[in-house]
Amino acid sequence: MHYPHAPNRLQQRGTPAPDQRRLTQAEKDQVGDWVASKGVHNTCPVCDHNTWAVGDYLVQNAAYVPGSSKPGRASYPAAMLMCSNCAYLRLFMAAPIGLVE
Ligand SMILES: [Zn+2]
Repeated sequence: MHYPHAPNRLQQRGTPAPDQRRLTQAEKDQVGDWVASKGVHNTCPVCDHNTWAVGDYLVQNAAYVPGSSKPGRASYPAAMLMCSNCAYLRLFMAAPIGLVE
């Protein structure tokens, strides 16, 4: 069976929105090096394993607005470290790491 359009569809689904940018391998290494330089413990607080993967994207933590369900304009971009065993996420602010202005 031949699916001539399948690769294109897959590619489109995997393409991030314009405002999202996949971290380069160098940036992922930068996250790992920064965390290591701070003496961060590698043991997962949830499952005790110690293997982590750096997420492909930064996440954006929006400021809380009292009385509204809408997020505020201020945001705090963060890098994700995901436990390879249980998928627990650790977040580290991207600015001190040097990933954002
Ligand atoms: Zn874990």
